[in-house]
Order: sequence, then C-alpha cells, then structure tokens
Amino acid sequence: MKNLHFQIFKFAHSLIHSFSLSIILFALVACHPDSKKGLISKADNESPYAKLVSGNEHFHHLKPVHPDVDLQHLKEASKSQHPFAVIVCCSDSRVSPELIFDQGVGDLFVIRTAGNMIGSLELGSIEYAVEHLGVKLIVVMGHENCGAIKAFVEGEEAPGHIKDIIDSLKGESEIKAIPLTDKNRLEECVIANVQHGIKQLKTQSNIIHEKLEKGELKLIGARYDLDDFTVSFTKQQ
Ligand SMILES: [Zn+2]
Repeated sequence: MKNLHFQIFKFAHSLIHSFSLSIILFALVACHPDSKKGLISKADNESPYAKLVSGNEHFHHLKPVHPDVDLQHLKEASKSQHPFAVIVCCSDSRVSPELIFDQGVGDLFVIRTAGNMIGSLELGSIEYAVEHLGVKLIVVMGHENCGAIKAFVEGEEAPGHIKDIIDSLKGESEIKAIPLTDKNRLEECVIANVQHGIKQLKTQSNIIHEKLEKGELKLIGARYDLDDFTVSFTKQQ
C-alpha cells in the first residue's frame, strides 16, 4: 500500500512533467525543516539527513565544498571508517552519491547495483554498515530515466544475467500495481522500485527491522533528477 508521503512524492513527480519539475522538486527539498539555507559547510552537529540535504544543495548549485578529502582527514580515515549514511542506489555513472551529496572519503557507505536492486549480498552489506559501523540512516535512491527500469518497461530481451534484473523487477508487487497504460510508467516504476527496496529492508532483515523499531535507525526513499541535479526525499520512517 502506498503511504501518503509517497503519494505526495508521486504527485510532485507528475507535476514535473506538466510544469517545471526541477523547480518543484527542489522546493520539496528546500522547504523541509531540516534543510539548510545557503551554501554552508557540513557541520558535525547536523543530522545525517541534513548533511545529505545540504550536500545536495551544494551540488545542485554547482558549488561543491568537497569535504573530507584533505590530507589530515585521509590519514584519520585510513585507521577506521565512520560513515554517517548508507546509500543504496543505481550503478548509473551519473548518480555517484559522493558527488551528488557533496561528501568525502569515509562519509557514505554505498551499495550500487543496476536499478538499485537488493539481494541477499546487498542486504548483508547494509547490515554490516548498520550493525558494525553504527550507521543511523539508510537511503534507497532511484533516479530519473533509469536504464534498468527502462529495459523492463520497454520489454527488451535481456541477455545473460541482465535478465535476472528484469525478472526481479517483474516480480515486484509495487511495479505490478502500475497500469501498463500509465503514460508516465517509467518514472512511476522508478518510484515503485524504491518502495519495494524499502519494503525489502523492513521485512527481510531482522537487524534493520529491530533498529527501526527501537528508533535507532531511519530509512527513507529518494529520487535523483538527472536534469536539475536535485534529490527529493520521502518522509523519514
Ligand atoms: Zn539506473
């Protein structure tokens, strides 16, 4: 069942195609109470979510700060890692999390597969970050015009193991719920696939489920817009 916030998310998404999508999506992010106005450096007291929001604002305005890549930080990072967020996203070369969230070495624990698909190996990686590295925020992020989703929507014949990705998408109940006649089917499927990933994390991992229940972990969905370089988020869960 789609929750209200995803409906809001989808509503905003549909507006994009009718009017000026880039302005509306950016407004969704910028109007969030955690959003930081202006281009400021990352502060240690910011929440993980706020760090991502402000970092994406830097990227959106083409004014990245490029934090945490100085020599002192690199030397410290060589001893241990303390990432503040897990980002599950597509392998697409245009959606590099460290760039679009303007983060540096050791800041993000990233899991990338084509179509941001999640299997047992990906779950294990996420659990490691949560259980052993103490990460408090997981973001499942899809993106505009995702090639993996597009291949599924267009019914392409997929060779080799690419077929595994298409078959996995076919089995997602969230995607099955989208009418074949939907004029915005590709982008609706991108969002549905994010919803599916969130459900997987909630239901297929006891480690994640328990931390969510205790309030020790947050899990949110997101969509990256290739045209205006902004990330829009669903409500934190
Ligand atoms: Zn993609």
